[in-house]
Amino acid sequence: MATNVITNTCKLGSDRYNMFSSFLSLVKAICSLKHICQSISMSTKCPGWHMCAQSSNRSSLLQAEILIVKEYQAVYFENEIINLSQGLPISSRSSLLALNPYLDSQNVLRVGGRLQHSELSSTETNPVIVPKKSHLETLLIRNFHESVHHQGRHFPEGAIRSGGYWITGGKRRVSSYIFSCVPCRRLRGKQHNQMMADLPRDRVTHARPFSYVGVDVFGPWSIVSIKTRGGQASSKRWGVLFTCLRIRAIHIELIEEISSSAFINTLRRFVSIRGQVVEFRSDRGTNFIGATENLNMQAVFVEDGPVRSYLQQQKVSLDFSPTHASHMGGVWERMIGVIRRILDSLLMQHGQKNLTHDVF
Ligand SMILES: [Zn+2]
Repeated sequence: MATNVITNTCKLGSDRYNMFSSFLSLVKAICSLKHICQSISMSTKCPGWHMCAQSSNRSSLLQAEILIVKEYQAVYFENEIINLSQGLPISSRSSLLALNPYLDSQNVLRVGGRLQHSELSSTETNPVIVPKKSHLETLLIRNFHESVHHQGRHFPEGAIRSGGYWITGGKRRVSSYIFSCVPCRRLRGKQHNQMMADLPRDRVTHARPFSYVGVDVFGPWSIVSIKTRGGQASSKRWGVLFTCLRIRAIHIELIEEISSSAFINTLRRFVSIRGQVVEFRSDRGTNFIGATENLNMQAVFVEDGPVRSYLQQQKVSLDFSPTHASHMGGVWERMIGVIRRILDSLLMQHGQKNLTHDVF
C-alpha cells in the first residue's frame, strides 16, 4: 500500500524539497524514502537503506527524479495537466503554448517540439518541462552549472538540454544564477577602479622637452652575434627607453648587457644628445635596483663617486616609484607597449636568422 501511496497518489509536497540545496541529495533522499516504504510494506528484511544497493541503482534514481518533477509540475501546471489528461487543448493564455506540451506514459509533462524524426534520444527530443522560479529549477541549474565546472551560460544550458530538461525561460534564469554564483564571481568578477590621485607637477607644467624623463629597460631580444661555418652564436640586446613626461617624446638607447656601466653610459649618451635633465623617474624595477646598488646610489639622489660628480654637475636626480606601486609609471609602460608592437612587426620581416646587431 505504501508503495502505491508514494508512486501514484500521495503528494509529498514540493515545499519540503526547499530544505535541499543539491539536486542529487534530493533524488537520493526520495529514492531512499521510497525504498524504506517498500521494505516496510513487503515486510522484507533490509540491511539498511544506506547499505542497500537497490536504493541507489539507476532505475530507482530515475524514478525518484520523475516523482520530484511531477510534484512540481502538478503545482505549477495544474490546469495544463488537467486539460491534457482529458484530451483537451491547453489554454491559449498558457505559458507553455509555444512548447506544444504533451503527457507521456508516466504522466510527465514534456515538450512536443518538431524533432520526432531526429536520431537524438527521446530525452533530448522531448525534454521534461521544469517550471521557472521553482526550487527545482534552482537545484537543476546549480547541478548542471557545477557539473560543467562553472563555465559560461552556454555550457550549463547545453548540459541541461542533454540532461533531458527544459527550463521555461531558461537562458535568463541560467544567466541570473551565474551572476549570483560566488565561485564564478571570484573567477570572472570585474575589478573595481579606484579614483587616481592628481598627476605630478612635472607632468602638467611647461618646460623644455626631456627636462623630466621617465626611464625603463625593456627586452631582451635575441640577435645573431657571431656567424660560423657550422652555425651561429646569439646574444641578447635590451632597449632603454627615455620618455619625456610632458610631451611623451621618446628616445631609445640599445644596451648589450644589464650592468651598471652599460646603464651609466646610456645615461651619458642620452644627456649628451638631448640636453640637461632635471629629474629621471623610474619604477623600482630590479634592473635599476641592481644598477643603483652597485653604484651606491640612493633611491632619490645618486651618490656614487665618478657618477655622482657627473650627475651633480648635470644637477640630475633619480626618483623611484614606491615599492609595489605597479599602477605608477603608466607613461613609460604605455610607450614600451607601443614600441614592442612596432618592433615585433618590423623584426618579423627580417626573420630570426638575419637579425644582427646592426639590423636591430
Ligand atoms: Zn559558478
